[in-house]
Amino acid sequence: MRGLLVAIDGPSGSGKSTLAARLAGELGVPYVNTGLMYRALTLHALRSGVDPDDGPKLARLATTMSFDLDRSRTPPILEIDGRATDETLASPRVESRVSQISGHPEVRALLRAEQRRLGQGGAVMEGRDIGSVVFPEADAKIFLLAAPGERATRRTREREEFPAARPTPEIAEAMSSRDAQDAAVNPFIPAEDAVTIDTTGLDADAVYAAALEAVRRRIPG
Ligand code: C5P
Repeated sequence: MRGLLVAIDGPSGSGKSTLAARLAGELGVPYVNTGLMYRALTLHALRSGVDPDDGPKLARLATTMSFDLDRSRTPPILEIDGRATDETLASPRVESRVSQISGHPEVRALLRAEQRRLGQGGAVMEGRDIGSVVFPEADAKIFLLAAPGERATRRTREREEFPAARPTPEIAEAMSSRDAQDAAVNPFIPAEDAVTIDTTGLDADAVYAAALEAVRRRIPG
């Protein structure tokens, strides 16, 4: 029998990564951040000069990459091409292109197969389409929402060396343009059987408590 599979979906800045990593540790299963897979492919495409409009070529590029779980970590986490992921994947250069690259059906099909393989023994997996497309049979599905202003503020805090209380206009603008492109591929609509948590005004502990309760209700014991 495989371990538990928990899907956590939602837009950027809604609190997915903090929650997913903590939940994976609690449940004793790997933590898989699927956004990093799309980001790593984007960086690879930029570095190799592959046209971001060429879906088939991008998918071929993705087949040359390896996606594994580093089981020496607790919880086990995603490693790409044999290495831990780093902050280069969070650069504005990557973020400005990632939605365009992840919009190609050929790219999504390929990474979806990798995601299913990574999750086959159980995982907490975060992304945009995990509960709806990648693992529609997940044991529990959580969909996180937050007000756009708060999401941009959180993202600014993560990215700025001296955290500001308000989002920078550049970050707010980049986020809303990525939202618009992402929503065309995966509308921000929770799977029918997902539990939606609005994280606006909640701290990480409160989001975690609400999510853990939702998982326990879904998976008794
Ligand atoms: O979650 P994160 O913001 O790191 O995701 C980066 C980008 O990867 C998203 O803006 C989206 O374009 C893409 N993505 C996706 N499907 C997923 C996860 C991420 O299309 N399951």
